[in-house]
Parts: sequence; C-alpha cells; structure tokens
Amino acid sequence: MTSNPREDDDGTQISRRRFVTGTLAAGAAAAGAGGAASADAAATKHNKKPKPKRHKPASTTRSADVVVVGAGISGLTAARAVRAAGHSVIVLEARGRVGGRCFSRPLGVPGASDVANMGATFVGPTQTEILGLMSELGIPKFDVYSAGSLLYYESGKLSRYTGTIPPSSDPTAVLELGAGMSQIDQMASTVPLDKPWAAPNAGAWDSITVETWSEQNLLSADAQKLFALAVEAILSVEPRDVSFLYLLFYIHAAGNIEVLIDNAGTGGAQDFRVSGGTQGIAVKMADQLGRKHVLLNNPVRLLSQGRKSIVAHADKATVTAKRAIVAIPPHLAGRIAYEPRMAAVRDQLTQRVPVGSLIKTIAVYDTPFWRDEGLNGQVTSDQGPVKATFDASPASGTPGVLLGFIDGDDARALDDKSDAERASAALASYVRYFGKEAGNPRAYLDQVWANEIYTGGCPVGIMPPGVMTEYAYALRESSGRIHWAGTETATVWTGYMDGAVQAGKRAAAEALAEL
Ligand code: FAD
Repeated sequence: MTSNPREDDDGTQISRRRFVTGTLAAGAAAAGAGGAASADAAATKHNKKPKPKRHKPASTTRSADVVVVGAGISGLTAARAVRAAGHSVIVLEARGRVGGRCFSRPLGVPGASDVANMGATFVGPTQTEILGLMSELGIPKFDVYSAGSLLYYESGKLSRYTGTIPPSSDPTAVLELGAGMSQIDQMASTVPLDKPWAAPNAGAWDSITVETWSEQNLLSADAQKLFALAVEAILSVEPRDVSFLYLLFYIHAAGNIEVLIDNAGTGGAQDFRVSGGTQGIAVKMADQLGRKHVLLNNPVRLLSQGRKSIVAHADKATVTAKRAIVAIPPHLAGRIAYEPRMAAVRDQLTQRVPVGSLIKTIAVYDTPFWRDEGLNGQVTSDQGPVKATFDASPASGTPGVLLGFIDGDDARALDDKSDAERASAALASYVRYFGKEAGNPRAYLDQVWANEIYTGGCPVGIMPPGVMTEYAYALRESSGRIHWAGTETATVWTGYMDGAVQAGKRAAAEALAEL
C-alpha cells in the first residue's frame, strides 16, 4: 500500500511572517529564531551593535484594474470575466497551487489514467453554471458508475437496496422520512434565495437547529437517525450545529432535498465526474490567465482602501487596483486585516460562519470488485467513521476506486491522528461494507480538510441559528471597493462548484460596473 503524501500546505509560511505597525512585513523570512541568532553572532564578532532587523518590502509591486483574492473556482471565474471584458486582473493565491477545495492527486498506482479528487468530485445535470464553464474550457464529464444495489449498514446489519431512502429496520421510519422530506421541500420553496431572512417563517426557523426540528417533527428514532445521516452527508456538520433556516435555504438553492441526496444516475448532484479531476477546471482557467497574472504563495494579509484605489498586501506581492474581489470562505475573509475597518456587521458575520469537518478517504484496488457482486459502491451507514461511500473508479473501470466520507464528530475524532491510524479506521469501515478484500488496497489516500489553513474545514461555511436573520445581509453587500465572491455567497447551488461559478460571475459584474 502506498503512503499518504500530504499537500505542501504551509503552516510555516504564516509563522514566518508577522504584522509590523499594522501592515504585513513580508520578509521577516530570515526570521526564524536560528536566523536571528546567527545575525547577532556575526555582528558581535566585528564588535558592532547588532542592527535592528529590516523587513524586506514585498518583492513584487503590481497594478491592475481588479485584484482577486483566492484562485479557487470562484476567484478564477471572476478573473476570467474581468479579462473577457477587456480589463486587467491579477489573482493572489495563498497556496502553492490553484483550485482551493478542488484538489487532485495521483491515484498512487502506476499507469492509472485518472486522479484522486481529494475535494470536490461530482457534478449534476442541473448545475448549469459549472457544466457551462467545463464546456467552454473543453473539459468533458463522464457518468458515475450506478448499476446495481446500494448498501445500508444499520446496527451491525448490512442490507441491499435501491431508491433514495435506505431500508430502515423500522418501516414506519421510511414513510415518515419520505413525508418529512416533502414537508421540507415545501418549506424550502418559501425561502427567497437572495433574501432568506425574508422568508415568512424566517424568525422561527432561524431560532432552532436542524436537530430541534427533527426531534419535534419526526417521531421515530430511526427516521431521525436517517435524517441526521442525510444532513451530515450534505453539510459535514451535526444537525445540532446548523440553523434550520440555513438548511432550508441550502436545499432551495439546490432545487430540493432529493437532488442533494439522490443516488448516482438519478438526476441529482452525484451523477457525473469531471474528466481529469475537478482541479483541472481551475488549472485550465489559470493557464488561460497566464502565470504572470496568477501569483501563487501569496496569502493576502491586508486590504487597504483609499479614495481612488485599493491595495492588496500579500506575502510576496503588493497589488494596487481599482476594485478587489475576495473569493474565499467568510471565516478566512475575517482573517484579513482591512483599512478602514469593516462595518461591524460584516466583521461579526465572518465570526459566525463555521465550516464543517470532513475527511475524504480514497482506497485504490486492482479492480472494482464490488461490481461483480452487483453493488454500485454506494453505502449509507449508521456506524463511522466512514458513513458514506461512492465508486470513484476511472471511466475505464480500472483501477477500482472507492471514496468514503468521514463527517462531523467522526472527522474531529480523527483530525489529529496519525496517517496510519486514520487509514486503519477508514479501512475498517470499508471492510465492514465490502468484505476482507477492501482491507488491502494498493493505495490509500486521505485529506483532512480541517487541517488546511487556507480552507479550515469543508465542504462549506454554514450558519448556526440567529446568523441568517441578523447578519447574512452583509454576505454579498460590497464593502467600498471590495466585492465578495466564493461559493458561500451564491444563491444557486451554494456550497458547490456551481455556486462558486455563479458567485464569481456576479462579483465580477459588480466590479466591472464600477470601472
Ligand atoms: P475555494 O475553493 O475555497 O477557493 C478559495 C481559494 O482562496 C483557495 O485556493 C485558498 O487557498 C485561497 N485563499 C484563502 N485565503 C486566502 C488569502 N488570505 N489570500 C489569498 N488566497 C487565499 N462541490 C461540488 O460541486 N461537488 C462535489 O462533489 C463536492 N464535493 C466536495 C468534497 C469535499 C471533500 C470538499 C472539500 C468540497 C466539496 N465540494 C463539492 C465543494 C467545492 O469544492 C466548493 O464549493 C468549491 O470548490 C468552492 O470554490 P471557491 O472558489 O468558492 O472556494
């Protein structure tokens, strides 16, 4: 089994840099304790007072009509739109790669034609923004394998099934959940996508968690359990963590609850895969913009607005522009310093949009052996840590790949464990569902998204009770020369790549209107 190489995400970069008198000095680089000590020693040797350390200015100073913060799907879509309108643009990206929550790694098996999607994987037929972008970029899709039965693992027992709702041992639970989902769809349809806080019952719905609604409206314990599994699979949080109004908004933004949880091949969010991996969408956009216009390893620390311009201070670059588009999740936007300060409501909003906990696991086998048993690789389970799986094999069917999700509390319990401990816990789940053969993959990979400093959790920033009604109006409202993008600001398919594209286009249109 191959090891689990990590992304070179860079806790060290941040610790090597610090703010000095309110702005970020990039160069303290030398800066580790060892560097300072040797400079001091050299000065003493020549009998001179040690000179105070000078902070090097940012190495690149640039200007453009628009500066974009973040080279995920949303930021790159925005930059592309600015360029298409004939204006100049520079994208500043914190990591040493583009794509953000879209990250592809080699499968770890020689000759494999596909990649492992460690973040976003699927697209669905109603996600017209991302499908349109892929088509413009010449990136094809292929069907997720869906022939055969699904598996439900409940209280130690494995059952095969087809359809959307797993076959609970309590048959009334299935009926009750079906009725509950219709009720939810009806309530969700009353939530205005651009102003969820104006929904007729917004106040009541935003004052309770999803768990409270479930306890008050689903009578059987098994119906509550199945509903909780669906919520965990959608948002990677526990039902107690999220506002019921937020869930209704999220469902309406996707269409209905069925498209969010539908099995592959049934018109929902999990129907297609992106040839070459989802990160390829970002890579292609960045290639088109050109290397000089997408500056990697440049976390933005300060956005300073004046009467005529805005200056983005990053670790190795300073960019002066007329407008800025910030295309990062709200909680990370809250880590940037702003001059002048943000309006209080905007700052407080960024303190209240936490991201879910999600570990994505991938196991690679010689063949997709489960297909021979009439299984399509999809599992729902009431026992963790992996509670949902999908067949993620290449279009050719070789090698066989299973992906599994570890969400919420289960993810938190494993976030800080060793690679070996996580692999062993995840593979124990795979064995429970697919037998002994699943315990010996040729490669195992995983991605602990909570440990990525420039993501901090996944898949999306959610809102606990009270946030949507009191703070969410500040999510998209521009702040002077700053326009906000990122999938969290989308009104359609929020949380998905599709929403990231919609948000990027909207923010670009706002900025372009002001140039
Ligand atoms: P991001 O991708 O987060 O991009 C933000 C970028 O900004 C990052 O590159 C980050 O490094 C950078 N950045 C952060 N801070 C700074 C700073 N201070 N300065 C400069 N740059 C900064 N979506 C789907 O459609 N289908 C799926 O199947 C799916 N599955 C998912 C599974 C997982 C495990 C995860 C993690 C996500 C999944 N998603 C899925 C969600 C999807 O990945 C996101 O909705 C989408 O990628 C968000 O794009 P974005 O551009 O808004 O944000």
